Amino acid sequence: MDTDVLIVGAGPTGLMLANQLVRRGVRVQIIDRHPGPSLQTRALGVQARTLEIYSHLGIVDRALELGKRATGANIWSLGKKAARIPLGAIGRSISPYPYLLILGQDDNERLMGNALRERGVSVNWNTELVGLSSQESDHVRATLKQQDGTTREITAAWVAGCDGAHSAVREINGIAFQGAPYEHVFFVADTQLTGDMVAEELNVYLWREGFHLFFPMRGTNHWRLVGIVPAGMREKKGLTFDDVIPSVQRQAGSGLSFQKCTWFSTYRIHHRRAERFRDRRCFLLGDAAHIHSPVGAQGMNTGLQDAYNLAWKLALVVSGRADAALLDSYEEERIPVAKRLLSTTDRAFSLIVSANPLAGLFRTRVLVKIAALAMSFTAIQRLAFRTISQTGIHYRDSHLSETQAGIPKTAARAGDRFPWLKLKFQPNGPVEDLYAKLDDTRFTLLVFGQSAPEGLPPPRDLLCIHTIPADPANDRELARVNIPRPSFYLLRPDGHVGLAGIQLDVAAVTRYVSGRLHLATQGAR
Ligand SMILES: Cc1cc2nc3c(=O)[nH]c(=O)nc-3n(C[C@H](O)[C@H](O)[C@H](O)COP(=O)(O)OP(=O)(O)OC[C@H]3O[C@@H](n4cnc5c(N)ncnc54)[C@H](O)[C@@H]3O)c2cc1C
Repeated sequence: MDTDVLIVGAGPTGLMLANQLVRRGVRVQIIDRHPGPSLQTRALGVQARTLEIYSHLGIVDRALELGKRATGANIWSLGKKAARIPLGAIGRSISPYPYLLILGQDDNERLMGNALRERGVSVNWNTELVGLSSQESDHVRATLKQQDGTTREITAAWVAGCDGAHSAVREINGIAFQGAPYEHVFFVADTQLTGDMVAEELNVYLWREGFHLFFPMRGTNHWRLVGIVPAGMREKKGLTFDDVIPSVQRQAGSGLSFQKCTWFSTYRIHHRRAERFRDRRCFLLGDAAHIHSPVGAQGMNTGLQDAYNLAWKLALVVSGRADAALLDSYEEERIPVAKRLLSTTDRAFSLIVSANPLAGLFRTRVLVKIAALAMSFTAIQRLAFRTISQTGIHYRDSHLSETQAGIPKTAARAGDRFPWLKLKFQPNGPVEDLYAKLDDTRFTLLVFGQSAPEGLPPPRDLLCIHTIPADPANDRELARVNIPRPSFYLLRPDGHVGLAGIQLDVAAVTRYVSGRLHLATQGAR
């Protein structure tokens, strides 16, 4: 075998997967048909859940240094400010990163590429996957085309298709990419301009004829402007920013003053999902598996989470610690996430781009009022933050999730990302950040109001146990998220709850670990 995992594509998804696998001791080869990293910004919004994953990867501080934290989103209707979503205030008790970090995709790729190089692995650029064979046996044979036009073959135990919307891995395996293109053409411009946008925050302008999004970028008066190309110009060749300025100004009036445009691009978007995310030894992740409108800044972030979901499972299977049946849970968990994402972004997108005059009236008169009213309720604010930040993604229906009787409906349940808490880990010790204590290369058992019996699986090199002492500060924190005492939570390496119950019982945990995780319960190393 030339490698354990061949990763096709060194965009954000492939780089995340490579990092996560290498950290867990898996041999990878990562290839990309391009000559080097992309210089285009493309995605700009990094969500809180991605930042939580970056912190385990050791790159969050650099990302925060480079990016801009948008702690609020402002909704404007016909040029008047109608509502503000206070992301910072809402998310403060949900995530250590209660904002949308504005950081270009190129910077994200650079940070992940550097982290990978520090782990001793580099991307093989100018290398394109052109064929796959021998899928039946214990390996896949991949044909790679090199820069000089010649081909070579390598064998890999597994192949990860992180190769974007036109995925060769998906096409060679004959997996349908169901969906359709939208009729609209988007434009994206990195500009220097002044106007009445709220500085350092996200600004969403709704007009009768469409919308404009303004993302604050690094530097003074730098904004990423996103909108739709006016219908009459959709087919125009060589469209420039100057062509769309009149349409922006017609809506924004004289309030906007353009100084410079450093990048302008147009693109037609599709909403599509692969019918399966796996074919035997090949997986699909990121844009290879799902594409949708950029509404909500979810695309790149979803690909990164696909990688985070697959990596720990693949690493356990490659190392022989778990049966390959564990991998069935990848598409079982990630297809529902993609389905929900596509239907939400599709509904939101259709509403904000509809050219129907009634829809325009609804958008600018009714929608903004509903949004403003809704955002005055704490529960709705929290739901909005959880949805946008991807901290609310759960796998409750996965066969890896088991919630035993007695766990209240309002507490974290199996499949949920375990809540971010600040706890005392020692009697009379300091209050510490739970997420900073989690080791995402192992399972974590959190034990409340009881002691942990001897002999709990999985083996100790895969398990970290924290018995949380009784303490008024801990009681307050647990009460805030309705976690009862006694109780226990077995977290998967990706921070989602696998097993939740009241009384810790070695036999029940053993049944879960071998029966659901397909993990060997003996042989601690
Ligand atoms: C204008 C724009 C704005 C966006 N804004 C946001 C945003 O704010 N937030 C957000 O989350 N998302 C956003 N997105 C979406 C985001 O850019 C994508 O979801 C993201 O790039 C997907 O990453 P990926 O790694 O899955 O695929 P890609 O980035 O497409 O990477 C795939 C890689 O595979 C390589 N490749 C392809 N075929 C082969 C082959 N046969 N052999 C070898 N290599 C191959 C390609 O060269 C490429 O480098 C935006 C997209 C666009 C276009």
